[in-house]
Amino acid sequence: PLVLVTGLSGFVAKHVARELLARGYAVRGTVRSVTKGDEARAALSAAGCETGRLEIVQADLTDDRGWGEALAGCRFVQHTASPFPASQPRDKFALVPVAKGGTLRVAEAAKAAGVERLVLTSSVVAVYHGHDGRADPRFTEADFSNVESPRISSYAVSKTLAERAAWETVEGTGMELAVLNPSLVLGPLMDRDPGTSADLVAMMMRGRLPLVPAARFGVVDVRDVAQAHVAAMERPEAAGRRFILTAGQRTLREIADALGNAFPEFRPRLPRATVPNALIEFAAKVSRRAGTLASELDQRRTLDTTAAREGLGMDFRSPEEAIRAMAESLLRLGLVR
Ligand code: NDP
Repeated sequence: PLVLVTGLSGFVAKHVARELLARGYAVRGTVRSVTKGDEARAALSAAGCETGRLEIVQADLTDDRGWGEALAGCRFVQHTASPFPASQPRDKFALVPVAKGGTLRVAEAAKAAGVERLVLTSSVVAVYHGHDGRADPRFTEADFSNVESPRISSYAVSKTLAERAAWETVEGTGMELAVLNPSLVLGPLMDRDPGTSADLVAMMMRGRLPLVPAARFGVVDVRDVAQAHVAAMERPEAAGRRFILTAGQRTLREIADALGNAFPEFRPRLPRATVPNALIEFAAKVSRRAGTLASELDQRRTLDTTAAREGLGMDFRSPEEAIRAMAESLLRLGLVR
C-alpha cells in the first residue's frame, strides 16, 4: 500500500517514513522545495533505508495546487507537516491559516481520493494548554486546550484548531482518523536539518542557557513517535481515537542533568540554576510569551498514556535515552562541538 507522508523534510516525518519503508510500505513524501526533497532522500538513504519505494512530490500547506496529485492512489496519509517555529509570533492566531488551512486541504484531498485512514500529528499542546489552575491535574485524551486562554501560545492555538478541524472534516464520512498527541520529541536527528525540537538540547550543550525556568515538559523519543504513527495507521481499534505520547515529564534541570550524565565533559556548559517562579509569573503579567511559559510551571500536571500503551502497544524509551540519543546525534553531525 502507498502512504502519503506530508512534510517529509521534518524531524518526525523522516522517522515515520523510515519506519514505513522498513515495514514494506511504498511512501510518497511531500516537500516545499526540490532541495528539501533531495536532502530528505539522502538522509533516509544514509540511515540505511531502501529508498526505491520512496517518491517525492511538491506541495505547500498554503496552496491548493499539488494535493490532488499527491493523494492519488494513497491508501493512508500521515499528516505531519505544520508550522513549528522556534520563536512564537505575538499574534495568537498567526499560525492558524497554515496549520488549520493545511490540515483542511490535506483532509479534503484525502477524502476525495478515497483514503482509508488519515493519521494526524497533533501535540500535547492541543491537550493541556490554557487550563492553568484547573483542580484536576490529570490530563487525558478527553481534554482539548482552551484557545480562549490568554496563557496559550500561538503554536498551541494552531495545533488545537488544526486537530479540531480534522475531526470535523471526517465526521460522517467513510474516512477514518487517528491522532497522535506527542510531548516534546527528542531522540536521534537523521541529518543536519535540526528543526525546532533540537533547539533546547543544542542550546543547553552550547552553554547558552545558564539559567532555566522550573518548567516541566513531557519527553518522548522520535523512534517511539514513528512507531506510534504506524500503529495508529495499522491497528483497526486506533480509528477515531487520540493518543497522548510521552515517556514521562522532566524539568529543564532534569534534562540538563541527563545530558551531564551522558556527556560529563559538557557539564560546565549546562544550566546550573533555576529562575524563580515568581519572576516568570511577574513576566507573565507583562508579556504574553512569558505567560505561555508560565503554563509549563505546573509541577502537578500528569499526562495519562494508558491509551497509547494499551491501544497502540507502546512501550516508551525513557526520556533519558531520548535526551542522550539527541545529544549524541548533535555531536555526530557536528551541530554541537
Ligand atoms: P519540523 O519543523 O522538523 O517539521 C515540520 C514540517 O512541516 C517540515 O517538513 C516543514 O517543511 C513542514 N511545513 C511547515 N510549514 C509548511 C507549509 N506551509 N507547507 C508545507 N509544509 C510545511 O518539526 P517536527 O518534525 O518536530 O514536527 C512535525 C510535526 O510534529 C508537526 O506537526 C509538529 O507540530 C508536531 N509535533 C512536534 C513536536 C516536537 O517536539 N518536535 C511535539 C508535538 C508535536 P520545511 O522543511 O519546508 O519547513
